[in-house]
Amino acid sequence: MDRKRKVDITGLGSTSTPAEDAAKKRNMGINPFTGAPYSRKYYDILEKRKKLPVHQFLDDLMDKVKNNQTVVVEGETGSGKTTQIPQFLVEAGYGAIGEGCVACTQPRRVAAMSIANRVSDEMDVNLGDIVGYSIRFEIKNGPRTILNFMTDGMLLREAMNDPFLAKYKCIVLDEAHERTLATDVLMGLIKEVLKNRPDMRVVVMSATLDAEKFQKYFDNAPLLKVPGRTFPVEIFYTPTPERDYVEAAVRTVVQIHKCEDPGDVLLFLTGEVEIEDACRAIRAEVEKSQDPTKEGELAVYPLYSSLPPAAQQKIFREAPGPKFPGGPVGRKVVVSTNVAETSLTIDGIVYVVDPGFSKQKVYNPRIRVESLLVSPISRASAQQRSGRAGRTRPGKCFRLYTEQSFKEELLEQTYPEILRSKMSNTVLTLLKLGVEDLVHFDFMDPPAPETLMRALELLNYLGALDDEGSLTDLGNKMSELPLDPQLAKVLLASPDYGCSNEVLSIVAMLSVPQVFMRPKEAQKAADEAKAEFAHIDGDHLTLLNAYHAYKQNGGSKDWCFSNFINSRSMVSAENVREQLGRLMGRLELRMVSTEFTARDYYTNIKKALTAGMFMQVAHLERSGHYLTVKDNQVVSIHPSSVLDNKPVWCMFEEFVLTSKNYIRTVTGVQADWLVEIAPHYFDLENFPECEAKHDLEAVYRRKDKSQQRPK
Ligand code: ADP
Ligand code: MG
Repeated sequence: MDRKRKVDITGLGSTSTPAEDAAKKRNMGINPFTGAPYSRKYYDILEKRKKLPVHQFLDDLMDKVKNNQTVVVEGETGSGKTTQIPQFLVEAGYGAIGEGCVACTQPRRVAAMSIANRVSDEMDVNLGDIVGYSIRFEIKNGPRTILNFMTDGMLLREAMNDPFLAKYKCIVLDEAHERTLATDVLMGLIKEVLKNRPDMRVVVMSATLDAEKFQKYFDNAPLLKVPGRTFPVEIFYTPTPERDYVEAAVRTVVQIHKCEDPGDVLLFLTGEVEIEDACRAIRAEVEKSQDPTKEGELAVYPLYSSLPPAAQQKIFREAPGPKFPGGPVGRKVVVSTNVAETSLTIDGIVYVVDPGFSKQKVYNPRIRVESLLVSPISRASAQQRSGRAGRTRPGKCFRLYTEQSFKEELLEQTYPEILRSKMSNTVLTLLKLGVEDLVHFDFMDPPAPETLMRALELLNYLGALDDEGSLTDLGNKMSELPLDPQLAKVLLASPDYGCSNEVLSIVAMLSVPQVFMRPKEAQKAADEAKAEFAHIDGDHLTLLNAYHAYKQNGGSKDWCFSNFINSRSMVSAENVREQLGRLMGRLELRMVSTEFTARDYYTNIKKALTAGMFMQVAHLERSGHYLTVKDNQVVSIHPSSVLDNKPVWCMFEEFVLTSKNYIRTVTGVQADWLVEIAPHYFDLENFPECEAKHDLEAVYRRKDKSQQRPK
């Protein structure tokens, strides 16, 4: 970079280079960004930071970054990569106010938020000013931000409007070993950008990864290895497989609390509902058999992505101390998703409980189904998880599966997400980015051709691509919305059906975590509460009813609580609605409603939904079960659905694969709408022989007749 330029990085009126100037101030104990002396807290954290393993490698790293466009960093989880390296890069001048920014990508929202929070503390600045974050539907940064933590998906979004990523002088691709879809696409993209941006630097970071593969991909980038400090971890397996892993996990945690020496516990589970249930069960179990003279207090903290930031930060609290002088010390239990596997490090963990599962995306292009499935983790993941127990002293890891299944059933590595995803959104993004030759795009692992075909086909049916495969005007607009292409189409079609206000609310409700709560101990009451919002035509309109009721009750938390509505989700829905509304305004879409008392108020909404969802439709067969149209999968309506009048045709948002195939969030539709709204898709010429086809034929016959009839 240009070291001779004299820029006033701090806005405080100095004349040396930004990096020099800031360093001078730092040495004098003055925060270069605020001009104020550093706080006590800053120095406390600084002591800890200096002990992190990456600190010794600082000079080596900066040397490599200076001389190479791309550097690969491999280092044990907790060695300080994520919190320290982006700061080093800022100090070296890759981030300066008004000059350029350092971006650090994360696969998970929670990690981006939590790390931004930590780093702003470490730099003694307010979050959102010098240090910020951006995740979908939530951006907390400003004009002075020079270090931005963001999800990989958000950086990809930014690239659509800033193809050379001009804002950034340095990009840190963190957690590269996770091989998320967005990181994989970003890598390909950034490789291209680097050719046009000789000034740009990229640091690819990860815990254990196949460094050679990454080095090769980035034209033989140099590797920096940061050795970690870990203590031995003793591993225990269950002698026989566990039938109910949540129950077994709760039992194990309680057992640890009762029998093991002091030290905190980390339990891995797969998602919000499971985690909240387990937290409640652990608290209840411990309370039932508490002997305060023998055991200390147990503090249980959940960690998952939809948790608000303040609750997320609780996991870093110290374990509770003794209740009375000389009494037993307390213990902390964190019940977390995969985010605690490598993205966030919680010091003080000595015991890890690993049931061996995580939620993973799977995609079957043959039947066009993408689904999140609770699946066995890989051996690499299991090793990472057990490593969390040996951060500060020797620890123990309890694997709730047999040693044999570890050795024989778990895969060595999880397949990269790009091989397990639907790709329609990614293809739209790539086309918007100007990548037309998808087959020759430099993917680290190319997606299956059939998956790409399916994605192109879907975008073509939606009208986002023309028959030559070029982005249409509609496609351009769709790519502006941070939504799945089908939902984007729904939103874009809604003004034509006179219901953009209502559809916007529904789309917002579909974009946030589960709104209707159903706690294990109050299922009946929860179902009764939900029934109050039920709309006879299905779940989409039920969501709309719930949104309207929430607004009518002034967004009251108490109202949410007594109606088994997740108030956090509702607040997000309002926020998402506002943001999408702003984007619609920018796209010059009208906000309109049909008169509530009009006969077609609900019909219009359902038609607008159909305009985007027509490829996800099921037909009721004479045998009494539903078959997905064109893909012929037998499905049942999910038990959570309010739809119970068995309409002949219904559209659905989600295909849930469990022991049975379910469709979730379902609404009844009519065959003549399908024919009217998506004639190219319901064209009988290339429709497989089936009962649905016969029904459609009848619709076409009726239509022909009515057209022939003299007026
Ligand atoms: P890596 O990226 O190499 O896995 P990190 O930079 O994430 O390592 O973590 C370095 C250290 O910072 C760890 O010891 C971790 O516990 C600590 N740390 C990170 N975030 C927080 C936080 N919010 N509160 C307290 N300590 C934290
Ligand atoms: Mg990290």
